[in-house]
Amino acid sequence: MMSEDILISALKRYFGYTTFRPFQREIIQEIMAGRDAFVLMPTGGGKSVCYQLPAMLIPGLAIVVSPLISLMKDQVDALCAAGMPAAALNSALTEKEQMQLEADCLAGRVKLLYVSPEMALAKMHSLLSHIQINLFAIDEAHCISQWGADFRPEYARLSVLRDAFPRVPFLALTATADKVTRKDILRQLNLHHPQVFISSFDRPNLSLSVVKEMKKRDKDRAIRSFIDAHHHQSGIIYCLSRQTTEKVCEMLRAHGIMAKPYHAGMTTEERTEVQNQFVRDVVQVICATVAFGMGIDKSNIRWIIHYNLPSSLEAFYQEIGRAGRDGAPAQTMLFYSYADVIQQGKFADESGQREMNRERLRRMQQYAEASICRRRILLNYFGEEMATGCQNCDVCKCPPRHFDGTILAQKLMSAAKRTDEHYDIKVLTDILTGSFSAPVRDNHLEMLKTFGVGRDVSRTDWQDYALQLLHMGYIEIVYDERNRVVVTPLGEKVLFEGAKVQMVEQDKKVLPTSSRKKHAPSPAFPGLYMPMEEDPDLYEALRQLRLRLAEDQRMPPYIIFSDKVLHELARIKPLSIEAFGDISGVGEYKQNRYGSVFVDEIRKYVK
Ligand code: ADP
Ligand code: ZN
Repeated sequence: MMSEDILISALKRYFGYTTFRPFQREIIQEIMAGRDAFVLMPTGGGKSVCYQLPAMLIPGLAIVVSPLISLMKDQVDALCAAGMPAAALNSALTEKEQMQLEADCLAGRVKLLYVSPEMALAKMHSLLSHIQINLFAIDEAHCISQWGADFRPEYARLSVLRDAFPRVPFLALTATADKVTRKDILRQLNLHHPQVFISSFDRPNLSLSVVKEMKKRDKDRAIRSFIDAHHHQSGIIYCLSRQTTEKVCEMLRAHGIMAKPYHAGMTTEERTEVQNQFVRDVVQVICATVAFGMGIDKSNIRWIIHYNLPSSLEAFYQEIGRAGRDGAPAQTMLFYSYADVIQQGKFADESGQREMNRERLRRMQQYAEASICRRRILLNYFGEEMATGCQNCDVCKCPPRHFDGTILAQKLMSAAKRTDEHYDIKVLTDILTGSFSAPVRDNHLEMLKTFGVGRDVSRTDWQDYALQLLHMGYIEIVYDERNRVVVTPLGEKVLFEGAKVQMVEQDKKVLPTSSRKKHAPSPAFPGLYMPMEEDPDLYEALRQLRLRLAEDQRMPPYIIFSDKVLHELARIKPLSIEAFGDISGVGEYKQNRYGSVFVDEIRKYVK
């Protein structure tokens, strides 16, 4: 077995890192010893290194099975840019290109060959049997399972490969958090006594926050100032409908922010174009429906906003997981509203799996409503326990203040009772705040004793209190009867038996409000700005340099260096090529290739 030093020096030489992430070393050692392994790591956990490093160290070539051509391309570009000979064999190549590539493989000029599952099976008895294969890596291994969301029938035949190459180690990798899928992958791939590595699904660099019940105008304003505060940083806004993606884009563009929509109503070409512009940092913001982000590896997505409530925590976690893959801080913000709960509830009812989807929605709401650490709730959902708060979510940073909400609860529930539990929250809010809306006038609700008794509280606060009562079980909403509100037996105890209700105060200070102070740290989102010692002008100059280099080489900027490397450079300011090579994330090849241009740029900023 190779000694640890050889592995570390190879890690530094090829990837520029000096320490392994959890399990990476153990996994690499399994493979180097010729054994199979199964790896579960969250997105951004560092799965690729686990097969890329042994591929470079063991004689022969590694076969990497990958489901999407765009993902293959990204990885191949990144490997080549770091001086590791990689290529992709797929249907996008011409016959001539394919022959050339096969010749390169036979001549030992390729160390990592990415293939689609179809291609792997098609070439099993030809190309693959003529070359020395050092390992098989099955990336996105959950595609093999019908239980997973991205089932790919061609993956299901991959166990044939396992049998055809009995002496070559197999490594299956996935980021799926779903237990049923995990078991299924192991069974279907037929791995040989694999060691199973399950790393934590926590992504500590992602900050979590939720903003409750806001008027559309305020929501849009909040998003604009959030993006202003994230000057030049890439981000995704997930919306529920195509129409919303377009509206939000328009709103942002009118404000001078380079935003584009991405949804199923666009042609494949249009979508590819938008995706490429985003990957190359030409478009800053993508407003997308759920599908966006699957086929890209872009490591410098710095924030994710959910304009609407997602349908489940799985979906939510997968979507926020697209941010901060480089390990640098990234922000996530979820807008939570009563209207979205109703909408998602409807989808659940129409889905044909009402009970399951209602339950999923309920868990999603629990996260949004949380008065304890949100990360604890998320990880708990995926079967992990956390003993303390994370200090990187809005609840930890600004713990909710409880107060006696009995009177508020009684007012709201008696408005419901006095109208025979006939109306939805919106009408009840009209009654409480004393507004003469159409339903109030049509039904003479202004005659009620409760009319206007809650004038001192704003409409949005009333809606928030109603949601709290709903989640604590004091009221219920009958979704299939115009969302009318009914008081539960628990609620009746508050109305008639003097039971007390604890409520949580709405905190409105969680949003960055000023768009003027672009570089000033915002107390609302600590971690958003880099350490004090960093020179922000130098960072910006390095970012521009990276952008120019990327344009010259027709490559995404993050493939040249991650944001994390740029931040390190702006902080440490190396003035020699050797010192440049010591920066985490700078390998030997990139040191030689980019050392002098970056050092020259840094010299201009050091007095
Ligand atoms: P995954 O495939 O699990 O989503 P990647 O392999 O793309 O994750 O790795 C995510 C990021 O972490 C990449 O930018 C990668 O270079 C970086 N990374 C991987 N291993 C290490 C390490 N040992 N130290 C520092 N960064 C690492
Ligand atoms: Zn927390």
